[in-house]
Amino acid sequence: MPRPLVATIDVAALRANLAVAKKCAPNSKVLAVVKANAYGHGLMHAIRGFAAADGLGLIEFDGAVQLRETGWQKPILLLEGVFEPADLATVIEYRLEVVVHCIEQVEMIEQAGIASAIDVHLKMNTGMNRLGFKPEAFRAAYVRMRALGFIRNITLMTHFANADNATHAALTLSEQVRRFNSATEGLPGLRSLSNSAADLLHPEVAADWVRPGIMLYGGSPGDKSAAEFGLLPAMTLASAIIGIQDVSAGDAVGYGSLFVADKAMKIGVVACGYADGYPRHAPTGTPIVVDGVRTRLVGRVSMDMIMVDLTPVPHARVGSAVTLWGADLPIDEVAHAAGTIGYELMCGLAQRVRITAQ
Ligand SMILES: *Cc1c(COP(=O)(O)O)cnc(C)c1O
Repeated sequence: MPRPLVATIDVAALRANLAVAKKCAPNSKVLAVVKANAYGHGLMHAIRGFAAADGLGLIEFDGAVQLRETGWQKPILLLEGVFEPADLATVIEYRLEVVVHCIEQVEMIEQAGIASAIDVHLKMNTGMNRLGFKPEAFRAAYVRMRALGFIRNITLMTHFANADNATHAALTLSEQVRRFNSATEGLPGLRSLSNSAADLLHPEVAADWVRPGIMLYGGSPGDKSAAEFGLLPAMTLASAIIGIQDVSAGDAVGYGSLFVADKAMKIGVVACGYADGYPRHAPTGTPIVVDGVRTRLVGRVSMDMIMVDLTPVPHARVGSAVTLWGADLPIDEVAHAAGTIGYELMCGLAQRVRITAQ
């Protein structure tokens, strides 16, 4: 019997979420972002839901190569581009597209003596101050790339820092758009701007490409719930009760004895812990579903197990089904309780957790 902890990927939900992304940006092409093993869903499972995407974007070279080898024909964009000159051989062999975000990458490409045509996405730093050329340096980088005979298309891109917050004091989406438009005025090339939050909340800035990630997996990029955006959870992390303890008032549960029962109660032990990717900082009270009934985690998350309050589920027994997050428990609620975001929980799913798709 394998351990009961399984992540089940709902391919139809991935497909439906992609349709939401397209519907928000009907005149844009959609680059489905599949970095970090498709946000933990398993790259090969996820692309079954993304056949209608116009391209795929990721960071990892091995994933990009695997996508080509399994027959993905449309664009594959490396979102951090190349890290060293030798990477360009892989880019050419597998017809990958690359982000170019710094002068060192321009130099690597200039010096590579590339024979075949490549497509690049030139990235502007419009205020996030992560990757990209400053607006005032962008045009010079563009001209240098354009001067190379083997560069075919140059897509112009930037990334938003606060697409989920229209009134941020330090930087707004509209200010980033203004800087981008002003610095790219008159430059030929397609434009690529929006992440999930911008796609959902600012359809007016959708350009030639949108680059949704989290929304495709049924996570919310903002304060509204995923359900309010019409998104479906694509990953359900489920396990089972593997042990039950009867405790009396005053008895403590788990490492550090963080939870002390105030009455006689049943405690269920669930096969899932932080070594599986469950957030160690999830406190007592974090929602969890046992046998279809919502209850709460109690005590400290341990490496392989968590404990739950079975008071609302008196019929629960060893073998009862548990949902950690997914179909009947939004991942964003669990993340919020643990002081993190759905992104981190999805991406943090550990290697030892079996993934199946349906
Ligand atoms: C990860 C990423 C995205 C997707 O962001 P979400 O918030 O998950 O939609 C888009 N563009 C770039 C450059 C990224 O790195």
